[in-house]
Amino acid sequence: MQQLRVSNLRKSYGDHEVVAGIDLELQSGECFGLLGPNGAGKTTTLRLCLGLIDPDGGAIEVFGLPVPLRAREARRRIGVVPQADNLDPDFTVVENLLVYGRYFGMSDAEIRSRIPALLEFAGLGARADSRIQTLSGGMKRRLTLARALVNDPDLIFLDEPTTGLDPQARHLIWERLRQLLNQGKTIFLTTHFMDEAERLCRRLAIMDRGRMIAGGAPRELIARHIEPQVVEVYGDGAERWAREFGASHSERCEQAGETVFCYAHDADPLVHHLDRRADVRYLHRPANLEDVFLKLTGRELRD
Ligand code: ADP
Repeated sequence: MQQLRVSNLRKSYGDHEVVAGIDLELQSGECFGLLGPNGAGKTTTLRLCLGLIDPDGGAIEVFGLPVPLRAREARRRIGVVPQADNLDPDFTVVENLLVYGRYFGMSDAEIRSRIPALLEFAGLGARADSRIQTLSGGMKRRLTLARALVNDPDLIFLDEPTTGLDPQARHLIWERLRQLLNQGKTIFLTTHFMDEAERLCRRLAIMDRGRMIAGGAPRELIARHIEPQVVEVYGDGAERWAREFGASHSERCEQAGETVFCYAHDADPLVHHLDRRADVRYLHRPANLEDVFLKLTGRELRD
């Protein structure tokens, strides 16, 4: 069953078209990832899907309900993890869950009956009465995730769920998201961490300047858009080596700062040649989603 369907969605601010006619579909139980550089329009897309802002054109359906027209009804079955933790600092962990549940019209008794499972899910069983300021960044993120589950949603929107977390905390969040997928929940996440998208998402789309520029399974995207092998070359001699040998023995070489990236179907000639050089270091690796992302969106910095 389709949980979300978006067609030809548009949104402008002034003459800046932030979402420029996108199509999306999410099937029940899948994890879909929306990738894109800063300013691509990811958050705006999420907010449009939630009915928090009005589109200028196109159609959105959540659980078959038209949004924004019936967004309130749709949101009863949706959980949201916003980009920044917006927990109430004046309340304890449990109070935050209670206050949030009341927004959905749940009774305190109903919310309280769900709290032990939510705290366990968040790994915060011992912190029920702790104030928010005493929690670590990872704990706050987990609580925000648990809070998004207070209404037992079918569809969960997560906006950059692990930005700012250390590796341990990120892995724990991923583990929890997998648990939710195993329970049959549908997840829509935005991220600019390619490893996160590759780990969690069966399907992704890359958005840039308001448009969808590529989509598919992570492996499909890699196979379709990029040569399978990458040799990264570092050091003072890297640029010269690329000019004299790398460029003519690979499909393409790109320079970013002092590193040369050579993309090839067969990297053996590059590696053999580099092994005899003392003036450069190199890393030979399979192509990944980040290579696809950088090829399609460019290497220049975004705000
Ligand atoms: P992303 O989440 O991909 O980083 P956003 O959707 O947050 O991108 O923003 C896309 C663009 O829309 C940015 O250039 C941003 O400045 C602009 N934008 C977002 N919200 C507003 C707003 N309320 N008013 C004006 N411009 C906005």
